[in-house]
Amino acid sequence: MHHLWAPWRMTYVTGSKPDGCVFCSKVDDTRDADNYVLYRGQHNFVILNVYPYNSGHLMVVPYKHVACMTELDEESLQEMFLMAQVCVGVMKQHLHAEGVNLGMNIGQAAGAGIEQHLHLHLVPRWSGDTNYMTTVAGTRVVPQDLMATYKDMLPVLTKALEETLPGERTGC
Ligand SMILES: [Zn+2]
Repeated sequence: MHHLWAPWRMTYVTGSKPDGCVFCSKVDDTRDADNYVLYRGQHNFVILNVYPYNSGHLMVVPYKHVACMTELDEESLQEMFLMAQVCVGVMKQHLHAEGVNLGMNIGQAAGAGIEQHLHLHLVPRWSGDTNYMTTVAGTRVVPQDLMATYKDMLPVLTKALEETLPGERTGC
């Protein structure tokens, strides 16, 4: 398996981390656009990764503050994977992704950046993107790019998720 090399992530790895849980603070905050929250379901929300491995890198995050998927209830788990399914569809159809990496890093030993609060990564992939990312090494994905991605994906993702999860947009 090829790994994307994303040197700008060092900002995250070496930078100071805020007190409290970064995901729980997003749940409680209503400024979804500022936080890049794309969708709130009944048990989970979808958010752009602000330190993406690739453009359009999303995460599906349960509202429940649990570290491991073994602690998550069945309803939350089901919705998490239904949401992931819809997100993969949007990545393929709207972003024209040729592939998608899905994954959870459970525990620090597995490489979890935020190990206290479970989250599912979805990274859209295109043929040759590893090479492309290497050529732009050192160029951090800037907030404007993230906001452009957010605005581009928001209506498409919202529509697709609402069609799959009817009546569940009341949120936490
Ligand atoms: Zn949390």
